[in-house]
Amino acid sequence: MKKVLVTGAAGFIGSSAVDALLARGDAVAGLDNFNSFYDPAVKRENIAGALAHPHFTLHEGDLLDAAFIDGVFAKERPGVVLHLAAWAGVRPSFENPKLYYEVNVIGSQNVMDACMAHGPSHLVFASSSSVYGGSTRTPFAEDDPVAGPVSPYAATKRMNELMCHVYSHARGLRVTLLRFFTVYGPRQRPEMAIHKFARLIDAGETVPMFGDGESLRDYTYIEDILDGVLKAVDTPFDYEIINLGEQRTTSLKELIGMLGEALGKEVRIEEHPMHKGDVPLTYADIGKARTMLGYAPKYSMEAGLEKFVAWLREARRV
Ligand code: NAD
Repeated sequence: MKKVLVTGAAGFIGSSAVDALLARGDAVAGLDNFNSFYDPAVKRENIAGALAHPHFTLHEGDLLDAAFIDGVFAKERPGVVLHLAAWAGVRPSFENPKLYYEVNVIGSQNVMDACMAHGPSHLVFASSSSVYGGSTRTPFAEDDPVAGPVSPYAATKRMNELMCHVYSHARGLRVTLLRFFTVYGPRQRPEMAIHKFARLIDAGETVPMFGDGESLRDYTYIEDILDGVLKAVDTPFDYEIINLGEQRTTSLKELIGMLGEALGKEVRIEEHPMHKGDVPLTYADIGKARTMLGYAPKYSMEAGLEKFVAWLREARRV
């Protein structure tokens, strides 16, 4: 039985990955510090099902505690490491760039050092579409220039890619960095646009729209992301960066309208100026993921939003 160590195991993507790995028969060790970026009770709820599973163990602690991280690796001896723990979010990163730097860069380096010391076959690491910055060359391909991040968060993710390259080149760390394009679905972080907008629309409140509504995003349904993540867990490479998106775009205005329809509610919008960290467009070229991983995303925006709204109702979040 393969053992996978998942960092950020109680978060949105982490807890979904833990459940998917357990469901297919892998053993999973999870690591999370249940920080207060959003309500830790939500994270406890995310991981409750896994905690009842005989092949799951949870380690509570901080990425910045190198001795703790090393101890978890020594005890669990994972075959593969899926590193998802980070401070996420573009806009909040402007409020505390130092914290983002510490956790995302230094904390991740502790994970990379533990990989070197304990020898899992490879590391799968969450990067982000935000590394493409304000690029308008579409769709975004992995070998496009990425020297212009526009938020502290994006810069930390690019630093991760660069430091992984050094570890791969100089020390033989095998690593796959997955550039996720805005992920949505059950358990989505409560501050992310789709989740936040759904709560506001359902409550009959006004939706704050940043910019003129024409900005475009490649939104990726969680089950499609998990398809790519699990395939990356199963497929070691020396060093690869791979986009995971849907290769389709939806404008902000369209998204808000679709959410109103899925919720069966009227939508009221209030325009605000664009935030300095926002980019006009994200759009993934997923050719490399298809070829190298056999990635096969399935969800239309309508189908994904329908499942998301069904979960919101079931979880009584609206
Ligand atoms: P999330 O905030 O729900 O999950 C992150 C988890 O990491 C949380 O449970 C948190 O408690 C944990 N964590 C944070 N700092 C930690 C620390 N110092 N020590 C131990 N645990 C810590 O976020 P998510 O949306 O599930 O994102 C997962 C990963 O994917 C992140 O690396 C994020 O940057 C990346 N990503 C997400 C998206 C998206 O659309 N959700 C897009 C691109 C990249």
